[in-house]
Amino acid sequence: MTLLPQEIIRRKRDGAALSRAEIEFFVRGITDGSVSEGQVAAFAMAVYFKDMVMEERVALTLAMRDSGQVLEWRSLDLPGPVMDKHSTGGVGDVVSLLLGPMIAACGGFVPMISGRGLGHTGGTLDKFDAIPGYCSTPDIEKFRQVVKAVGVAIIGQTAQLAPADKRVYAIRDVTATVESVPMITSSILSKKLSAGLDFLVMDVKVGSGAFMPSYEKSLELANSIVSVGTDAGLPTAALLTDMNESLSPSAGNALEVRLALNYLSGRARPARLHEVTMALCAEMLLLGGLADSLEHARARLQAALDGGAAAERFARMVSALGGPADLLERPDAYLEAAPVLQPVAAQRSGFLQRCDCRSLGLTVLGLGGGRSRPTDTIDFAVGLSELVQIGDQVEAGQPLAMVHARTAAAAAQAARELQSAYQIGDTAPPAGTAVYTRIGSAGAKA
Ligand code: URA
Repeated sequence: MTLLPQEIIRRKRDGAALSRAEIEFFVRGITDGSVSEGQVAAFAMAVYFKDMVMEERVALTLAMRDSGQVLEWRSLDLPGPVMDKHSTGGVGDVVSLLLGPMIAACGGFVPMISGRGLGHTGGTLDKFDAIPGYCSTPDIEKFRQVVKAVGVAIIGQTAQLAPADKRVYAIRDVTATVESVPMITSSILSKKLSAGLDFLVMDVKVGSGAFMPSYEKSLELANSIVSVGTDAGLPTAALLTDMNESLSPSAGNALEVRLALNYLSGRARPARLHEVTMALCAEMLLLGGLADSLEHARARLQAALDGGAAAERFARMVSALGGPADLLERPDAYLEAAPVLQPVAAQRSGFLQRCDCRSLGLTVLGLGGGRSRPTDTIDFAVGLSELVQIGDQVEAGQPLAMVHARTAAAAAQAARELQSAYQIGDTAPPAGTAVYTRIGSAGAKA
């Protein structure tokens, strides 16, 4: 039977489950341009309203993976599993900078292909670009060589991996069709599968700074990614983690790199960040067979941190990719500091009850630390540090955070935004949690 894009769209519009052949045909058309932008948009809207069953999601994921290059690691004969973590995005989320070196120090190999900031959320790639000399776009051979030698390399998306997703995502972005669980699932997993991983752990955020609008939707996405990933040949586990406030006390590119250096070298390990990082890393070690239990995994990870092995992997990765060899010892020599540093005063005494975390992320963006348009350049120096946490008690006039800004006017604007992002009340809120739940891949022991 002759396949036609408009017939496939019509069948999806009417609620039919598409066959593997139909999905593969449509995705080939997306990649070679024979399916028009209007047809991709109509398809995305049909999927948005009519959903996809698991078989369709797997077929869409695999077809998008096969739209470009698929990396392979077998020929390198690596003595450990090839693994990665992916997050749905957040504020002050510096986990990737810590997790990659920690997993490498425990015997895993982490070829991490990370993204730029999106909307109010920060991007791992932008954080690495704050390190002078660090090359986040090496050729694939260099990438493979660093992964083999160091155990971890963190770089940016290349045009060769999952090009169909690149086109679909750009169209979804401007047609109000991003928030579709089957399409988010296939978008994320096609990119991760094209990196040639053996295992994946997903960090699905929940809360006012999360991409998904509710706990239920985050859970639905996590379940979808774990099922589809595992069915597509990539055993996947997921954690639902809190994004009702910044994950760490700093938000902003160079500030987060500083925080990561302090964490790895043991100078400061903020509790919420440590909890989420350890939980994700432990899940990876378990999935990859590098630990027998979550307890065993945690002990290995803590030893890698305390003995300096994780810091050493980070330093070697930075230097192998062109950054300064002594970044850990001399961060001030390399990371730019903003000219204006201003405390933000609490307007009343009480307990921090709630934070509009999305607004916090937008404040960083407004300071110049993120992009409003894809072509915008980032000011790596700006952002927020010493952020208070939900549950903290403050006196009127005490700082809620420090603003790092380019100008006094930008600092004053950020301070006003921050004051309205935090709600201060008379009573202490119930104790929060950083990790809500775990969705294990079949076969992984707890
Ligand atoms: N991130 C992705 O990579 N794809 C989506 O569809 C949404 C978030």
